[in-house]
Amino acid sequence: MYHKSSYAFFDDADEASHRKEHHFIQDIIAAFHNNEFIVYYQPKVHIPTRRCYGLEALIRWKRGNEIIGPDTFISLFEKHGYIDELDMFVLKQACMQINTWIDAGIEPLSIAVNISGVHLRDPDIVNKIVNVCQYFDIPRNLIELEITESVMLEDIDDVMKKAIALKQAGFKLSMDDFGTGFSSLSILKKLPVDIIKLDREFFQKVMDQREKIIISNVIHMAQQLNINVISEGIETIEHIRFLQEIGCEEAQGFYFSKPLPMEKLDNILWTPFEMEEL
Ligand code: C2E
Ligand code: MG
Ligand code: MG
Repeated sequence: MYHKSSYAFFDDADEASHRKEHHFIQDIIAAFHNNEFIVYYQPKVHIPTRRCYGLEALIRWKRGNEIIGPDTFISLFEKHGYIDELDMFVLKQACMQINTWIDAGIEPLSIAVNISGVHLRDPDIVNKIVNVCQYFDIPRNLIELEITESVMLEDIDDVMKKAIALKQAGFKLSMDDFGTGFSSLSILKKLPVDIIKLDREFFQKVMDQREKIIISNVIHMAQQLNINVISEGIETIEHIRFLQEIGCEEAQGFYFSKPLPMEKLDNILWTPFEMEEL
C-alpha cells in the first residue's frame, strides 16, 4: 500500500512538472513570436591594444522589465524543436547590425553567433545560413559561428562535413567552451576551426602548475596551427595577468564589459578600453 501511494505521488509530481514545462514552453514560444527576444552583445578585446575587435551576440528574453538569460530556456528550445528559429533570429539581427554600421560608413566589427549542436543536425543548415547572409548582402567573413565542444558527441563525420562547407562558404568557425570536455585534442586534430574559446571555468579557480603547463601548451599548439585563442569569463586584472603568462592576447569578460544592448555599447566600442597596469 505504502509503495503504491508513494509511486502514485511520484507519478503525480512527474505529471505536474511535465505540465509546468509544457506551459512554460508555450509561454516562451509565444513571447518569442511576440518579439520579446532581443540580442545583447559582448565585446571581444585584443589585450595589447585594448581595442574591441569583435562581438558575441547573446540572446535575452525581455519579459516586461525583467531580462531573462539563455540558460533558463536554450535547452527547452532545443528539446521542443525551436532552436533553429532562435539561432537564425540572432544571425539575422547580427547581419542587420553589420549593415547598420556599413550604411553609417563605420568599419564593421565581426559578430559571433552561437549555433546549437541540435541545430547543427539540420541537413540544410549550411544553405540556410548562406541564404541569410546573401539576403542581407554582408561579407561572410564578418560572421563567426560558435559551436560547442559537445558537438563532438554528435555524428562527427556529419559535423565535419558541415564545418568544412561553412568554412568554404567564407564563415569563421569557432569552438566554444573549449577545454572542458574530454575531446579537446581530437577537436584540434579533426575540426577546421579558426578560433578556440577557452572556457570560463579555467579562470574561476586557481590553477596549479600542472594545469598551467597544459593550458599554455594548448595555446602554443593552437597558434602553430593558425588558430586564434580567446579566453572567456575574464573578470579581473589578475585574470589578464594570467593570460599574459600563458600567451593569450584576446579576452571576453565582465572586466571589459558585460553583454549589453547595442544602444548602450555603441559609444564604447570604438575607443580603447581602460585597463589597470599589468
Ligand atoms: P557562451 O556562448 O559560452 O557565452 C558566454 C557566456 O558567458 C554568456 O552567458 C556571457 O554572459 C557569460 N560571460 C561573459 N563574460 C563573463 C564573465 O566575465 N564572467 C562570467 N561568469 N560569465 C561571463 P549567457 O549570455 O548567459 O549565455 C549562456 C549560454 O547560452 C552561451 O554560452 C551559449 O551557449 C548560449 N546562448 C546564448 N545565446 C544563444 C543563441 O542565440 N543560440 C544558442 N544556440 N545558444 C545561445
Ligand atoms: Mg558562445
Ligand atoms: Mg562559452
